[in-house]
Amino acid sequence: MAVEIIDGNAVAKSVHEEIKSELAKMSAPRRPCVALVRVGEDPASVSYVRKKSRVAEEIGIESRLNILPEGTSQEELDALIDKLNADDSVDAILVQAPLPKPLDERHTFNRVRADKDVDGFSSANLGLLCQENPGAFVACTPAGILELLKRSKVETRGKRAVILGRSIIVGKPLALLLMKKGVDASVAVCHSKSENLKEICSSADILIAAVGKPGVVLADMVKDGACVIDVGINRVPSAEKKSGYKLVGDVDFDSVAPKCSKITPVPGGVGPMTVAMLMKNTFEAYKRHVR
Ligand code: NDP
Repeated sequence: MAVEIIDGNAVAKSVHEEIKSELAKMSAPRRPCVALVRVGEDPASVSYVRKKSRVAEEIGIESRLNILPEGTSQEELDALIDKLNADDSVDAILVQAPLPKPLDERHTFNRVRADKDVDGFSSANLGLLCQENPGAFVACTPAGILELLKRSKVETRGKRAVILGRSIIVGKPLALLLMKKGVDASVAVCHSKSENLKEICSSADILIAAVGKPGVVLADMVKDGACVIDVGINRVPSAEKKSGYKLVGDVDFDSVAPKCSKITPVPGGVGPMTVAMLMKNTFEAYKRHVR
């Protein structure tokens, strides 16, 4: 059976169109608004924030950029978040991670008001997700992965899902989502201390890699017919590219793809879905604010 390459760009586009058409039917006094906060000039963060802003504007969501210099103190960042929390014209706040040291990400994520926390990283929203409360804002990358699985008709019920990575941004909320009633996967989460990685991964019907290291998933770790989702975004040197680097995932795509039923590419797989889910969460926050 030929492998299906899951087209994250196409699925993300459908999500954008759905938001656009629902938005067009609403008669609200103002547009949805997301405040994007970036601290410092990390090149990946610069590019992610630019992309989020561009997609928001394409959909009809206002994006307000708040750029703070490297060396911003926690008090200064808190003051900006408090201001955005109190601003009734702002529906959603996204603080781009990673934050430069010594800024405290956990503290910062918790500072964002729960009803504007479209990243879903606050303890309030993570708690709601854990309770399977439909009001939770679910972290965008895990939500995007679930949407990709659903729209690509990947069966999750009763299936064995293995996640590589246990971060708050990807692994942990994804595990909660996949084990949720109605999704019904049996989930194993692995990390840098996991033993027998090859054996555990080989048992997966759905294998999700969110490690941040190229080539972590090799063909001999993948069951025949598995669905493989590659979350990793790694910059590796490339003489072919003008920039001098290219983006690759955590999965050794060329050797793994022939064994899979479905696989996501990097770029063009999970990345666009993360942005699409940010738009969906922002639109949801807006609806809750204007209704
Ligand atoms: P983190 O560095 O926070 O987490 C990485 C996880 O991988 C940790 O749990 C770590 O274990 C685990 N790990 C490290 N080495 C191994 C190994 N050899 N085998 C198994 N597990 C291992 O990264 P993030 O979760 O923030 O991101 C992961 C990747 O996903 C990155 O490449 C990032 O750029 C990408 N990403 C992509 C997004 C997208 O939209 N496509 C969005 C967010 C992230 P331990 O906990 O023990 O250290």
